Amino acid sequence: MEQKVGMPIEFKNTLAYAQYLDSLDPLQEFRNQFYIPLMHGKEAIYFTGNSLGLQPRQTQDYVLNELEDWANFAVEGHFYARNPWMPYHEMFTAPLCKLAGALPHEVVAMNQLTVNLHLLMVSFYRPTKQRYKIICEAKAFPSDQYAMESQVKFHGYDYKDAVIEVTPREGEQHIHTEDILSAIEKNKSTVALVLFSGVNYYTGQLFDMPAITKAAHKAGAFAGFDLAHAAGNVPLQLHDWQVDFACWCSYKYLNSGPGGVSGVFIHERHSSDTSVPRFAGWWGHDKENRFLMEQGFLPIPSAEGWQLSNAPVLSMAAHKAALDVFEKAGWENVFAKAKALNNYLWFVLDEVNHSLPGEAFKIITPRKETEHGCQVSLLITKNGKKLFDELKKNSVIADWREPDVIRIAPVALYNSYVDVWKFGNILNNYFQNENP
Ligand SMILES: *Cc1c(COP(=O)(O)O)cnc(C)c1O
Repeated sequence: MEQKVGMPIEFKNTLAYAQYLDSLDPLQEFRNQFYIPLMHGKEAIYFTGNSLGLQPRQTQDYVLNELEDWANFAVEGHFYARNPWMPYHEMFTAPLCKLAGALPHEVVAMNQLTVNLHLLMVSFYRPTKQRYKIICEAKAFPSDQYAMESQVKFHGYDYKDAVIEVTPREGEQHIHTEDILSAIEKNKSTVALVLFSGVNYYTGQLFDMPAITKAAHKAGAFAGFDLAHAAGNVPLQLHDWQVDFACWCSYKYLNSGPGGVSGVFIHERHSSDTSVPRFAGWWGHDKENRFLMEQGFLPIPSAEGWQLSNAPVLSMAAHKAALDVFEKAGWENVFAKAKALNNYLWFVLDEVNHSLPGEAFKIITPRKETEHGCQVSLLITKNGKKLFDELKKNSVIADWREPDVIRIAPVALYNSYVDVWKFGNILNNYFQNENP
């Protein structure tokens, strides 16, 4: 089923063929483990798992268990709850290692994404007079832009001087890896930090994290990644890639609920080094004597040493429920299906576009399989908002970005090949029959 770039494509753009692909899908029954929202009385075609993943059916039980244990044990729940709250975050070590390609002492679940980005910049953006610049992608997610802007200002620099945005070439939508690498090389005497997303939220471009990391290190800078749109979407090998740090949220591809707890990766060469500067809190303090409540912060020699507060158990219960679905499905199976489903999406979109006179839409996501994950961003040539409304009428939940982009992201655990075929069919009917 897996299609390779350059291989002859045997897909067919028919309902029967999509049903056939679903029948071969080893993860097909996982769809039933999620609540699929209804729209106009029927199951929606939910293509916004890149924005807020669907609720696993078992999440309510996991959260209710914690409420029950709170009712029954009160403060003693820290030790006697079915999943004791004191070490609650430790349940995430194993699944986060698989998600991130990390060693156990390199990951921790804590706080929320932008908070963690700031905490990590406290440790890994420590500008000097000579070396104070940040290199990032142009049009990074706004929260990341604000984080970088406020960090450079906090250190007394001017955004325009201190932040170098790598842009797409004239008339293009995504960024060439070689342009990123040459920007790093060109600024090798002044760059302190290279901070990119793993997958850009707007174009869906998957960046070459190992190459960017290598170039950053060669220039004497740290390399960090915001993996909000990469975690649970594409396979990651952060340890082997030598990435210095990364963080992600859990409510997008990881289905852990609105505002869910964030995850952090810190490479062992830093995470085990207790002299790395950081902002501290009691949950990052040496576990043996945390409750002696004495003066002097002794960080845990692992990513846990960056924790500030005790675990937000209710939202972590939802995270546990969601990660258990991934564990049951197998992370590799999830990534394999994501790729196959995405290949089918590209095929269907091409079929629709080629059958139309002129170009009704342009795909601004890079076509190469190594340069995207689940998401495809469509730039609608004419009157995109009208198409978007038409999609809604047909129970498609997609994402609209001004002025003319529709983002869709069929995901492995709950989307089907039939979802993809239906979407293509709706697009086709619209362009054949309407006058956009
Ligand atoms: C979704 C997203 C965020 C959101 O940040 P929160 O702190 O979770 O609200 C930040 N950065 C990127 C790149 C995102 O995609």
